[in-house]
Amino acid sequence: MNLHEYQGKELLSRFGVKIQRGYVAKNMDEAVEAYQKITAESGSPLALVKAQIHAGGRGKGGGVKLAKNLEELKTNAGNIIGMMLKTPQTPGGMNGEGKLVRQVLIAEDVYIPEFDQCNEIYMSILTDREKQCNVIVYSTEGGMDIETVAEETPHLVHKEYIDPALGIQGFETRKIAFNLGLSGAAYKNMTKFVANLYKAFVESDCTMLEINPVLVNGHGEIVAVDCKTTIDGNALFRHKDIAAWHDPSEEDATELEAKEFGLNYVNLDGNVGCMVNGAGLAMATMDIIKLSGGSPANFLDVGGTADATRVENAFRIILKDPNVKAILINIFGGIVRCDRVAQGVVDAYNNIGNINVPIIVRLQGTNADVAKKIIDDSGLKVKSAILLQEAADLVADVLK
Ligand code: GDP
Ligand code: MN
Repeated sequence: MNLHEYQGKELLSRFGVKIQRGYVAKNMDEAVEAYQKITAESGSPLALVKAQIHAGGRGKGGGVKLAKNLEELKTNAGNIIGMMLKTPQTPGGMNGEGKLVRQVLIAEDVYIPEFDQCNEIYMSILTDREKQCNVIVYSTEGGMDIETVAEETPHLVHKEYIDPALGIQGFETRKIAFNLGLSGAAYKNMTKFVANLYKAFVESDCTMLEINPVLVNGHGEIVAVDCKTTIDGNALFRHKDIAAWHDPSEEDATELEAKEFGLNYVNLDGNVGCMVNGAGLAMATMDIIKLSGGSPANFLDVGGTADATRVENAFRIILKDPNVKAILINIFGGIVRCDRVAQGVVDAYNNIGNINVPIIVRLQGTNADVAKKIIDDSGLKVKSAILLQEAADLVADVLK
């Protein structure tokens, strides 16, 4: 589950990480009120308006603006709240349709202009499955162009692997602060910052925590200016407070609907809709579609009880995607009987009506032969196959 910047920062501050403070606003009145609060607290008239959407690169798309006074704050808030913000990370990128900004964070200005040492650092924590470690990725070249830095000057991006059983050690936090070229108060504060950040990552069950930029200000203070957080969905049961931050408006509408039907669905950008029982079989099906020249439009696991209702719901979900040019149904009848599924497919087909894309059904396992007969005798434009490769070839044929 992804968090908004303001939620991630709230989480960090619970672990003693210094953050750029702010208040969330959904409309102009709230923005003005937030501005008054934050400027009173900071003692400076400067404040930022930051779009809260689940995508990075907001600065590049005009979703982060500094205001020097109330007038500018109103202009910026007026422009950003309700805008369709396009960033390199929103669907379709800078040429896509963008994402609707429903709320903004009115944040204090933490850059102290009279000091020119203001220094933007990149830092993130992830799990490296191959090394079976958590990894802290960091660079002195933080800010809005870290992707370019990683591509063109990869030697400027450092990695520190942390053994999850031992936890983070003093020598590791010192090495990071040293490699970042810090000294004095900044060095000391950075070691604490890294230790606290790591604690936040582990204790909140994050799968990703990215702070870009981490600011080293002229006082040697280390401040998290931005925050991107992903929490392991399977751990949410032990973080009720974090789970309550879930923002369904940021999620793919079809994926949400599938979740309500109890279907495991992930939308992809190909043209072959897949309906499969079992996650492993679903992955194998996607592979063979790709190998046969197609491209999967989705991952969909209907689960062990592929009954008529589930099959019908799955059909409706797949058909919402306008890119779908063919549907491959691949069911292994172990617990579920193939003839039941076949009847489910025929019923769903008739109930929905108007299905214009070709459907290829591969049923294997208990009563597969009966199932094939049901499909073949149904009179519908559904092709049946027994072997997976046969099914994939049929898909390739109809795509030609
Ligand atoms: P992103 O573009 O989605 O990564 O959003 P960020 O929260 O990282 O903000 C974008 C950029 O705004 C940062 O890289 C900073 O350069 C700038 N920025 C953020 N906070 C402040 C601030 O308090 N003062 C000033 N002057 N600039 C800021
Ligand atoms: Mn950022």
